[in-house]
Amino acid sequence: NTPLHELDPDVAAAVDAELHRQQSTLEMIASENFAPVAVMEAQGSVLTNKYAEGYPGRRYYGGCEHVDVVEQIAIDRVKALFGAEHANVQPHSGAQANAAAMFALLKPGDTIMGLNLAHGGHLTHGMKINFSGKLYNVVAYHVDDATGQVDMTEVEKLAKESRPKLIVAGWSAYPRQLDFAAFRRIADEVGAYLMVDMAHFAGLVAAGLHPNPVPHAHVVTTTTHKTLGGPRGGVILSTAELAKKINSAVFPGQQGGPLEHVVAAKAVSFKVAASEEFKERQQRTLDGAKILAERLVKADVTEHGVSVLSGGTDVHLVLVDLRHSELDGQQAEDRLHEVGITVNRNAIPNDPRPPMVTSGLRIGTPALATRGFGADDFREVADIIAETLKPGYDAEALRGRVTALADKHPLYPGLK
Ligand code: PLP
Repeated sequence: NTPLHELDPDVAAAVDAELHRQQSTLEMIASENFAPVAVMEAQGSVLTNKYAEGYPGRRYYGGCEHVDVVEQIAIDRVKALFGAEHANVQPHSGAQANAAAMFALLKPGDTIMGLNLAHGGHLTHGMKINFSGKLYNVVAYHVDDATGQVDMTEVEKLAKESRPKLIVAGWSAYPRQLDFAAFRRIADEVGAYLMVDMAHFAGLVAAGLHPNPVPHAHVVTTTTHKTLGGPRGGVILSTAELAKKINSAVFPGQQGGPLEHVVAAKAVSFKVAASEEFKERQQRTLDGAKILAERLVKADVTEHGVSVLSGGTDVHLVLVDLRHSELDGQQAEDRLHEVGITVNRNAIPNDPRPPMVTSGLRIGTPALATRGFGADDFREVADIIAETLKPGYDAEALRGRVTALADKHPLYPGLK
């Protein structure tokens, strides 16, 4: 029963330093969030010790009576949250959820369509050296140059030409909402399955602030740690008809023993996601992203070639376009890091710079909204970002303003 600090001071010191980093800086990576203490408590529980291959009531191991309760609660809650007929809560991550869903619906060599990576898609939507690009024949669709929005005319044209078995609608870096009904109409026309990967915007859907893809799609995958605010993990939702295929693709198709401690943490986070407090937080997330986009567009930083892709946002993130700026994505990311704001550089459509450098920044508001940031705070954050991206920025003064915001909204006050 030796505590971590005594048993392994090296690892403990790094964990402490990470807690301090999270507390003292502004986390604006769009795919990150802060899990509630109760979620982390479940995730750090004795459930980590239990093997439970199979599903509740049908396990390949004895002693599963308590993890069965936990997993069934998680399944029931996530089905109710999104109105799904079936849920599998075992995928270890979003990538594994996508791999299992594709494994359930496709054979190697089948054609899939997904949003091009540089246009906002995810690795698992058909990137060349990802499993999805290696196992399947990928036809990528794109965003329209003029509007910055997914080109549904191209989606329809490519679908009719290539007759895919699966169309993936979803994104990792896209500031607008997708038209799920249009995707389904096209999928039906060519006899394809529609899979929506709502990993990024699932929290907004749970709060009723974003259209729900579940009524439109055959399969919906998600992560649980982004806007949803839970533990790191994945979930697959599907029609009842596909339930058996999905379950056997996850186990034994892709995974062995489920992480029941993470499943317990997912269950807790689904309870939180059904609350009024969560809805209010998602509203602040959306409002914060809008404030950020509006202020960056208005700020005189635009004189220095900084603009916002698609002109704004309908979700929890803003994509900053640096194609006409002297600053590249790497330099902008480093500058913001210097003043205590964490973001990630991101390739943008028709990016003239290489993928490790890029001409974009992806800036998200979920983690700060979880910390309690409101409209005034997001206005100040937007101004700090704009000033940091200008030539002649005063790093020390800007860092002071970041610290003042971090102090105003303490993170995990009970943890040290
Ligand atoms: N799907 C989308 C749309 C994502 O943005 C991500 C992660 O960024 C994933 C899937 C993969 O999730 P994970 O990192 O948990 O494998």
